[in-house]
Amino acid sequence: MTDRTETASEIKADLETITSLAKRRGFVFPSAEIYGGFEATYDYGPLGVELRRNIRDLWWRSMVHQRQDVVGIEAAIVTNPRVWEASGHVEVFHDPMVDCLKCQARLRADHIEDNTCPNCGTVGQFTEPRNFNMMLRTNIGPVESSESAAYLRPETAQGMFVNFENVQQTTRRRLPFGIAQIGKSFRNEITVKQFIFRTREFEQMEMEYFCHPDESLDWHAYWKKERLRFHYSLGIRPQHLRLRDHTPEELSHYSKATADIEVHYPWGWGELEGIAHRGDFDLTQHSKFSGKTLTYFDPETNEHVVPHVVEPALGLDRTMLTLMMDAYDEETLEGGETRTVLRFAPHVAPVAVAILPLSRNEKLVPTARQVWEQLGPHFRTQYDDAQSIGRRYRRQDEIGTPLCVTVDFDTLDDQAVTIRDRDTMQQERVPLTGLVTALTTRLEALRPAVPSHDEIAV
Ligand code: ATP
Repeated sequence: MTDRTETASEIKADLETITSLAKRRGFVFPSAEIYGGFEATYDYGPLGVELRRNIRDLWWRSMVHQRQDVVGIEAAIVTNPRVWEASGHVEVFHDPMVDCLKCQARLRADHIEDNTCPNCGTVGQFTEPRNFNMMLRTNIGPVESSESAAYLRPETAQGMFVNFENVQQTTRRRLPFGIAQIGKSFRNEITVKQFIFRTREFEQMEMEYFCHPDESLDWHAYWKKERLRFHYSLGIRPQHLRLRDHTPEELSHYSKATADIEVHYPWGWGELEGIAHRGDFDLTQHSKFSGKTLTYFDPETNEHVVPHVVEPALGLDRTMLTLMMDAYDEETLEGGETRTVLRFAPHVAPVAVAILPLSRNEKLVPTARQVWEQLGPHFRTQYDDAQSIGRRYRRQDEIGTPLCVTVDFDTLDDQAVTIRDRDTMQQERVPLTGLVTALTTRLEALRPAVPSHDEIAV
């Protein structure tokens, strides 16, 4: 286990550095770049999708597969618009906006400092604040009218509430239990900057935990700790994370408690995940709007209760950005050369093991191919034979590959290869017969240490 609190304490990457690395190495591209891109919209490249897949899988494993009290669903992105009336999104889901009278920029009223337009610098010349609905609207069917209007979901959470009864009955769950979902959400955000931190199309990983009202505050406290543990398990350094309880003024009218897990970004502390206590608001609203009673019958007390809900809600894109920024490191080597390293945890890294033949010599290639075939079923591998071995090591460092396996001419005689460690740059000769075990042991040793639930103070 690695204790990463001992390594660098600063986030060393600014957004520009990460944006450029992300493009150069194929993590994130500006969307439709050949057309000049599209504001705050991104496409994920070959390494980006691997990183995202790892994060999604780790979230799903910890929230669903490794628990007996949580199940998953996938609900529709465009659903009955009544859902959004019930949830309050049609009415309330907006930010007060103002227009600058000089440059016409539309700005969030609460983002204007010192009464100055951040776009053109004009002071005090704004329209009155107006509410602006952030849902993206579309139309279903051939005729565009108010009756055919529908919305792209602004959050995945409502899919769990409207399926509460279906899931509870088909799985015969007793309280407490949770419903989890991963999927795309859409918000017509006005202030979009900071790369993939805030975009109009993004992916969420959310779980609604239904529990007895008397126990809901205890469950909220429980999930705060569990969610923090998850971020430690991804390898985000503890000193870059904090839990912040919302002040009473910040709480929604229905919420008894909400906390954010925040990250110390170069521009200040920002929300990575929200852990909200939503009370019985959503189930009550959907009962009212659908005419269907959404309660839980407790067989022990013979009572019908409306469960209360605790909701940990995390953004995938924001997690990806956080991991890249947190993992970024620059190191000056003995010769004065600078080495860029993404110090990803091994289970997060897009590539876990790179196989590098020393050269493209025809004597080496069949053996190197065999090694790749041997490792492929066990690890996320990449076979790289372009350019000098030194440059390939640097490239793997820059994309965060923890281990490289080098096949050289000696391999043909001694049936052994060299394992090179990303962080220490040390090399070790290992026989081909025990290679899978040797790599597994090393990758395991690189996984971050995660404190137990009770060790976390919140
Ligand atoms: P913010 O205050 O940053 O707008 P929020 O409180 O509205 O976020 P929630 O509705 O609680 O966000 O959504 C849960 C999570 O989804 C957030 O913590 C964040 O990680 C992610 N998220 C929300 N909006 C966006 C967005 N526009 N782009 C990327 N991720 C987002």
